[in-house]
Amino acid sequence: MSLIPTPSASARAPLKPLDLALTELLAHAQPLPGAESVSTFEADGRVLAQDLLSSLDVPALDNSSMDGYAVRCADWADADTLFPVSQRIPAGSSGHTLAAASVARIFTGAPIPPGADAVVMQEDCDVLDNGIRIRLQPAPGQWIRRRGEDVAAAAVVLQRGERLSPASLGLAASIGFGQLQVAPRVRVALFSTGDELVMPGDVAPADMKPGAIYNSNRFFLRALLQRLGCVVTDLGIVPDRLDATMDALRGASQQHDLILTSGGVSVGEEDHIKPAVQALGALNLWQIAIKPGKPFAYGQIGAAHFIGLPGNPVSSFVTFLLLVRPFLLKLQGVTELAPESIALPAHFTWPKADKRREFLRVRQNVAGGLDLFGNQSSGVLTSAVWGDGLVDNPAGQTIAHGDTVRFIPFSALLS
Ligand code: AMP
Ligand code: MG
Repeated sequence: MSLIPTPSASARAPLKPLDLALTELLAHAQPLPGAESVSTFEADGRVLAQDLLSSLDVPALDNSSMDGYAVRCADWADADTLFPVSQRIPAGSSGHTLAAASVARIFTGAPIPPGADAVVMQEDCDVLDNGIRIRLQPAPGQWIRRRGEDVAAAAVVLQRGERLSPASLGLAASIGFGQLQVAPRVRVALFSTGDELVMPGDVAPADMKPGAIYNSNRFFLRALLQRLGCVVTDLGIVPDRLDATMDALRGASQQHDLILTSGGVSVGEEDHIKPAVQALGALNLWQIAIKPGKPFAYGQIGAAHFIGLPGNPVSSFVTFLLLVRPFLLKLQGVTELAPESIALPAHFTWPKADKRREFLRVRQNVAGGLDLFGNQSSGVLTSAVWGDGLVDNPAGQTIAHGDTVRFIPFSALLS
């Protein structure tokens, strides 16, 4: 083996910075056309394809936020004033004008009767045979929820391009939407490459041949895609041969919006993804200046997008979160794509700077800082399970104990 660098190695193009790669990638992700109508029950995680305009005030009427008595404050003189109970207003009914110098028995959610200007909670009252006494002077407005204080009629409550959460489903329901127009699901064909890969369940650990490993990427990639609402066609494992890789890509390019692969996208002789994509379509992006995750590829085959993720499990996981996730969200019309990062102190040191921007697996500790997982190898998937997020460390940067770093919690990336 020669120690002199080969021309191809020395002439290598510089790796693309992540921000630039992401901008280019997202420029290719035009929202899929059309929309589908789904029951609000089924819309968690989907992306709204319509603005939700409220046709009513929520609450629709001033109502009580307590079980107690609706009163007219001016009627209260002192704690000995005795008020007869002139009406009873449970939630779901409506009362009538409050008789002078009386109170209305009222329950949480029931409309405030005309003439009343406050609610006294029952805990502040003494109930006697012929009426009630109110121990504390009531203040106008107390324990009243105002009409429209949650949603005003004609307000846009949720916007097209917003991803629906459990709370937003409730909000949509509160203004009367039982069906929602949402973006179509992204149809994704998924396959793993690698002759070393074996499916757990097919071969017992004791029977694994030397060099064989279990396919772990297939499991988390499928789960990540499903969390983003994709319809996944799982094509399993494709052998490390150009013809097999081309066949798989050609087939997957039909009826799918995205082909997602793992492995085989590097420069080894067994890496066939790049030439196969180039033969069948176009490769627009290849290799990014991040660690883990350098061997990332984007291209197009026919009408389908293609994304090739690295084989190393942590590289595959991290590049999915940083690149594939926003890509899939944009295909569904989401506009807010950048995950929030938080400034936190490092409770570790990172003495060796890297030329590439690094994403370190870390965990928040009870002292309000970040601990580092000891082994940051791109093959150590334990780091992604132990960690609860990533430190986004700029290229060429060392970290001293106590330095402020940017932390991206997995919670912002995994939903
Ligand atoms: P490759 O990108 O194909 O060169 O693979 C890089 C490393 O990741 C190798 O050690 C592979 O064995 C490993 N690897 C590739 N695909 C998978 C997979 N689906 N599950 C687990 N490890 C994988
Ligand atoms: Mg491989």
